[in-house]
Formats: sequence, C-alpha cells, structure tokens
Amino acid sequence: MNIAVVGAGISGLSAAYRLGQLVPDATIRVFDRRNRCGGVLETLNRDGFQIEQSADNFITTIPYGVKLCKELGLGEQLIQTNPSVRRTYVVRRGRLHLLPDGFLMMAPTKLLPMAVTPILSPFGKLRAGLELFIPARKDDLDESMAHFVRRRLGREVFERLVEPLVSGVYAADMEKLSVLATLPRFREMERHDGSLIRAMQKQLAANRAAHLAEQSGARYSMFVTLRNGLASLCNSLAAKLQPNSLQTGHEVTKVWKTANGQWVLETKLCGSQTTSNLPTTLDSSTTSNSSAISVLSADRSHHFDAVIFATPIHESSRLLRDSIPKLADKLTEIRHEGTAVVTFAFNSDQIKQSFRGMGFVVPKTEQSPILAGSFSSLKYEHRAPKGKFLIRIFAGGSRFPELAELSDSRLQPILLTAMRKILQINGDPLFTEISHWPRTMPQYHVGHRELVQEIESLISSDPTLALAGNAFHGVGIPNCIQSGFQAAEKLTATSAK
Ligand SMILES: Cc1cc2nc3c(=O)[nH]c(=O)nc-3n(C[C@H](O)[C@H](O)[C@H](O)COP(=O)(O)OP(=O)(O)OC[C@H]3O[C@@H](n4cnc5c(N)ncnc54)[C@H](O)[C@@H]3O)c2cc1C
Repeated sequence: MNIAVVGAGISGLSAAYRLGQLVPDATIRVFDRRNRCGGVLETLNRDGFQIEQSADNFITTIPYGVKLCKELGLGEQLIQTNPSVRRTYVVRRGRLHLLPDGFLMMAPTKLLPMAVTPILSPFGKLRAGLELFIPARKDDLDESMAHFVRRRLGREVFERLVEPLVSGVYAADMEKLSVLATLPRFREMERHDGSLIRAMQKQLAANRAAHLAEQSGARYSMFVTLRNGLASLCNSLAAKLQPNSLQTGHEVTKVWKTANGQWVLETKLCGSQTTSNLPTTLDSSTTSNSSAISVLSADRSHHFDAVIFATPIHESSRLLRDSIPKLADKLTEIRHEGTAVVTFAFNSDQIKQSFRGMGFVVPKTEQSPILAGSFSSLKYEHRAPKGKFLIRIFAGGSRFPELAELSDSRLQPILLTAMRKILQINGDPLFTEISHWPRTMPQYHVGHRELVQEIESLISSDPTLALAGNAFHGVGIPNCIQSGFQAAEKLTATSAK
C-alpha cells in the first residue's frame, strides 16, 4: 500500500506511526506545509527558559498521551505538575482569588470551601447548594454549557467560576458550546446520580479508595508534560517513521480521486524542505535546518491508495471539495477560533507576590483582553533558570477573536497592561515571545455530536479515506493521538478484509 498523511501535527504523526505498526510494508508519506513537524506543538529554548508556544501539558485521565510517551521511551521524561501549586485562581473585580478547593471544572466536590469563598455572594452559594435538589434531566438532547450550568448551579457559579475555566480551555462561547460534545460526563453524572455535587463527591471517594488500594506504583498528576518540551513527543514520533516518509515544507494544494480509485495529491514546495525529523524544539539562535534535503520536486502529483487528512478541518474541507463536495460542506459547519499565546520572562524579584496556584482564569464579565494566564515556571519548575519567572498569557478565542491575529507590536502592550492590572509586577519583562494560532481551536457547538456522526457516515464506506485531528472527539493531545490511531486502524482494517 501507498498511503499519504496530510498534516504532521500530533494527529498526523500518530496516524503515520500507527500505520507503520499495522502495515510495516506500506510506503507512507507525511506532508506538512511547515518546515518542521508538530503542528501547533512547538517548544522554544531561549536564554535557559523553555517556552511552550501552544499546549504546555496534557491530561492523564485519557490514557493515549502517557501510553504513547512510554512506548516511545519517553516515560522517564514525564513530569508532574508542582504539587505545591495545584490550584487555580479566578479573577474577580481585578483581583486573584483561589477557586474553592475541590471545584473541578464544572462542580464542587467539597461544600465548605464553596460556603466560605469570597467569589460568590450568599445568594449564589445558596443557589449552588440547591443543585442537590433540582430534578435531573433524563433525555439525550444536547444543550449549551451555559444553559446546563445555569440550570444546575445557577448564574453566579456559571459566570464567576465555570465560564472562565471552560472558556480558558476551549476558547469558546459557552452559550454555543455543546455540553454533550465537550464534557458529556457531567450530563451522565446528572442522569445517574441526580446531582453533580453528589456525583462528584462519590467520585472523589472512589478515587481516594482506588489510590489507597494502589498503595504503590507511579500515579500521575492530572496533567503532565515532558522534560524536553512537548515538541520532543513529535520529534520522537517522527524518528520512528520510515526514513524519508516525513515531507516537511510540502504543502498539499489539490487532491482528487482517479477513476480507478487512486488518490492524487498535488504538492507545492514552501520554505525549506526536509525528509525527516527536523527538531521541533527550536533554539531562537538557530531556527534553520542546515541538513535540509528535498526528495520531492516542486508542483508534483503523487499517487496513493489511501489518504488520511490530519489538517485543520477547514483545510481538509478545502482539499476534499473537488472529490466529495457533500463532505466538504459538512466539514465547514465546524467553526474554528484562534488564540495568541504571549510569554513574558521576568526576574523572580520583579514579581511582588507569591502564588499558591499555577495560573488564573478571567471571567468574561471582567472585560479583560486576557482569557487566562499560566505561571509556567511555577507549574513546571524546569522551565526557567533559578531566579527567573515565566508567565504565559492567552488571548483571543470567541471572546476577542481579533486579538488572535493582532500584530505582535500591538498585542504585547495590550496584554502587558492588562496583566499588570491583575498581577503585581515591577519593571519590564526581560523578553517576550508571541505565537499566533489562527483558526486552530474547533468549536464544538450544540449539535456537534450529530454533525460528527453525519461526517463519519459519509466516509465510513470508503476504505481509502480517513480523517484525524482535534475537530471531532476532543481537542486535547491524547484525543488527537487517539484520532490518529483510529484513522490508521480504519484504513488498515478495511484493507485487511
Ligand atoms: C494555544 C493552544 C494551547 C493548547 N493547549 C493545550 C494543552 O495545554 N493541552 C492539550 O492537550 N491540548 C492543548 N491544545 C490543543 C492541542 O494542542 C491541539 O488540538 C493539537 O495539538 C492539534 O494537533 P493536530 O495535529 O490535530 O493539528 P495541528 O497541530 O494544527 O497540525 C495540522 C498540520 O497540518 C498542516 N497543514 C495544514 N494544511 C496543510 C496542507 N495543505 N498541506 C500540508 N500540510 C498542511 C499544518 O502545517 C499543521 O502542521 C492547545 C492548542 C492551542 C492552539
């Protein structure tokens, strides 16, 4: 078999890696228009700091991330979040407040911290407590996250706690975000236990019992990262691919299917090309790859038996328009938002307060251009040299989409000023690094699950086509790995029959 993977982000690399395991004799080509692999995952080393330009860790409760790292020999590199700061702040009237202890994404596990938090008014607390008595919804119909949380826990918990937490992660408008596609387990908790608070408390007790029963063995924190940065995961995956299979600097410009069922991909050279393993860990002083070699000439057409599209969904839609216009139309129904990540480096003595949390989220009601901030070098201490401090600020999303694409020179002062209103910082940053990720965050709007089912049914009978990426069943890195694996398995399962 001759198989193409379009897109060498974590989804495409995972797909190619899994293909290599399933059909070792197949010829696999992975095309990416960038001159490096990894997609949005990019680690920059500068002046002793390690800067993650987009994702900076991944969840361990979905096993694909940790499992893949171990399989690639990166198990020893996995680092847990700093246990002394495993809390999050929320901004209220310009000031940082720790989220009530035990509040997990959508609901509390502990009642006392909710009762004493200054973030909620007495009425807001009473309304949240009534959640225990509100009848559960039993049907399967979707609803927005905003509707769900207001219905169960009231407006204050939604506006002051859940909205900033969830929109910080999904860069999404909570009035449109689907609860069934984004956090379905909370609807399941409602249905099963009649109350989120009751269900969360039960789950906490079960987790504690499991923890005690385990006694020994490595238990990971909820999030982990890799000592050499998340780009090292992509580099390790790339290193496992067949020699010459990775074609960076090759943009796929046009795709069509011939009468005999072969896929034809037209590619265009862009930037510097490599045939394999260009490190995605960039050193700011040496960002070019001197050993770049090109194996595919410009503007060539390549023939394949099967293709996996692991590109952002709007790009997959564009590429598939000529061959399957109905599918292309459906794909465009999944909308995307962009974000910008601005990283500020400081001397530690410029930070005039100490933190008990690893970052903060900002509710929409605060009218700040900041979505969230992360004390990057507190969360994972290896990321800054001794005596230095690294802060990452997120902006854009559906709240302020224009910020994701604002020029660096305009964005930096806006965010620095906004950050100074929240944090006590003296003087100017030592340096700033800015990355823009336009149209990278798919928005799982109400009805997303049905839309994905329709998309999947349109290609289910085609054994030569699969889609992977963050637009379908989860945006996190472990979800993307899973989507890549499943795409590879789809192609090989059908070809094996
Ligand atoms: C700012 C930010 C922060 C995040 N934080 C986290 C986090 O902390 N934890 C977490 O788990 N997840 C996080 N995520 C989500 C996660 O990082 C992404 O969902 C995931 O990395 C997407 O991987 P992908 O391979 O599907 O897509 P991408 O990384 O977008 O890769 C797609 C690739 O396709 C290539 N491409 C596009 N068009 C073409 C073409 N025509 N021809 C050839 N190549 C093409 C692109 O160059 C790109 O390399 C974050 C995302 C962002 C943007």
